[in-house]
Amino acid sequence: MSDFYEILGIDKNATKEEIKSAFRKKARQYHPDVNKAPDAEEKFKELGRAYETLMDDNKRATYDRYGEDGLKDAGFSTTGPFDAGFGGLNEIFESIFGSGFGFSNYSQDPNAPQDGEDLRLNLQIELEEAVFGVKKEIKIKHMEVCDECGGTGAQKGTQPETCPTCGGTGRVQQVIDTPLGSFRQIATCPKCMGKGKYNSHPCTKCKGEGRIEVQRTIKVNIPKGVDTGSRIGLASEGNCGKNGGKPGDLIVVLYVKEHKEFKRNGFDLFSSVDISFPQAALGDTIEVNTIEGKQKLVIPSGTSNDDVLQLKGLGVPYLGHQNKRGNHNFVVKIKTPKDLSSEEKQLYQKLFEINRNKKPSNKFIDKMKNVLHN
Ligand SMILES: [Zn+2]
Ligand SMILES: [Zn+2]
Repeated sequence: MSDFYEILGIDKNATKEEIKSAFRKKARQYHPDVNKAPDAEEKFKELGRAYETLMDDNKRATYDRYGEDGLKDAGFSTTGPFDAGFGGLNEIFESIFGSGFGFSNYSQDPNAPQDGEDLRLNLQIELEEAVFGVKKEIKIKHMEVCDECGGTGAQKGTQPETCPTCGGTGRVQQVIDTPLGSFRQIATCPKCMGKGKYNSHPCTKCKGEGRIEVQRTIKVNIPKGVDTGSRIGLASEGNCGKNGGKPGDLIVVLYVKEHKEFKRNGFDLFSSVDISFPQAALGDTIEVNTIEGKQKLVIPSGTSNDDVLQLKGLGVPYLGHQNKRGNHNFVVKIKTPKDLSSEEKQLYQKLFEINRNKKPSNKFIDKMKNVLHN
């Protein structure tokens, strides 16, 4: 284990200013971004430990008496600020050089595989299609690996070259002026955007991007029972990835158009049906429209306005339960007759007379009377 004073190249009586100054000099010399020697990073970490220990009066006193093992015994952390990764570096550099001097954030490596983006597409369908399910062909635009360059972004017969600006490191040094003097800062290379490679002959088809927008027709299988807001995921039909990353998915979001005759509420369908006074009073069997076409609906005698008559199993199938299905509900609307013929008038008049003298009033006739009198 080397001596902290030796590491920094200072003597035992060095002041804090001298420690700072020595650290600054050595840190620049051994910074792993600058110094490519295999032991540079290790040296750099040692510098961090030495600097941290000697700048702290308590730690320095313990170290002076008992050495590095003594620090451990006294409960001081002996891992330096650089051992945990380079995150601690910014703090220590800022403490010496002032804010603004630090390290660029390299967490996003531009050469690392990057997954493609998911895409979202809204699709309108008819109510019938939602009820019975449908196979649709849809046109989509997504990014695919450029077939001209195979994703390299370089023209056929050429290769991306080592970036002339950064020499392939993807990083450049910038000079920063601080009150303590000028220092060099490491930043992402603006020419290659950190890739370290540069296309002097970019692929003409993708303009060096490596991906191109392509229109495709794909099949979507819409199951029975979907509703507005239902989503269908199509794996790998989103944008292709970069640097070998996985492609994204295509999410189809369904929107069920309003039907001209039927309203939907959950798995039930609703429509209204007009009947006459005699049909309501005496009952009848009529033909009604359903999603399955014309069906017979029985009107029981004594049916009132707004009564709901139901045809079971003619609603919307439960999504994922092929045998379960909602109902079709018919809301009864009794039509008051207008433009009565003289014969009809006579009959209604007769009906009216009978009901006037009738003691226990019939609910339906009462209603009819009200309507007729108003
Ligand atoms: Zn290309
Ligand atoms: Zn570069």
